[in-house]
Amino acid sequence: MATEASELHSTCRHHARKSGDDGGWVGIDRGLTAFAVAATADGTERARIAAAPKPLSTELGRQRRLAKSMSRKQRGSHNYQQAAARLGRHHCRVANIRRHFAHQIANRLVKAHDRLVVEDLNVAGMLGNRRLARAISDVGWADFARLLVYKQQWRGGTVTVADRWYPSSKRCSACGVPNSTLSLADRVFICECGFRADRDHNAAVNLALWPTVQQNFSRSPDPRAGGRVTNVRRREGTDRHPIGIGETVPVDAGTEVHASLVA
Ligand SMILES: [Zn+2]
Repeated sequence: MATEASELHSTCRHHARKSGDDGGWVGIDRGLTAFAVAATADGTERARIAAAPKPLSTELGRQRRLAKSMSRKQRGSHNYQQAAARLGRHHCRVANIRRHFAHQIANRLVKAHDRLVVEDLNVAGMLGNRRLARAISDVGWADFARLLVYKQQWRGGTVTVADRWYPSSKRCSACGVPNSTLSLADRVFICECGFRADRDHNAAVNLALWPTVQQNFSRSPDPRAGGRVTNVRRREGTDRHPIGIGETVPVDAGTEVHASLVA
């Protein structure tokens, strides 16, 4: 890791923050309609990235047709093999488009911001919903988060993971009160305090606020029910939970993300 970091030209690296500077966090929410929404703690939206690059939807339509065509051929026949090869090439093309897209967006975000906050990658309940789980894995969020982490490390920046029980979607980013009636269908977040915002925007702002508000959430009612062992308050600077490079970020698998500190 240290060698990789030194290979990146110093001008590409973020300037070191002065000690005591704990601002500048940008929350990145994986939107339900957008691929990602990035916002600062003061509510400024820094990026809104469409769900998928255009070529991907074209390719996906084609892929469905190819799969159908293959299913109509007799197994083992020459035609079947040809159709299978065609489908295989498409899977490859689709994967490349996704990969390219994820790299582009990750580059853009880590270039612009040295401090990023992302949602816990295994938000309880989310992966229990099969359709939603598929939607999330379709946009390759796990790969994307991995890219963010290692690209940010090259640049000397930070990626922090908010704890899974932090209600980034349901919390009002203006007054801090959670809205328990918010459902997945609600596109707009409305709070009794009068605050109103796009759902994904509100979540991104909450994530940006995580480093500042986390002490209020530092104790889960039941540590085994979702909170991490690392939730205990530690001295300043050691409680940010950045994720490590070598670790998998297993969203799709539904396993837990192990946060560890990276030197
Ligand atoms: Zn409010």
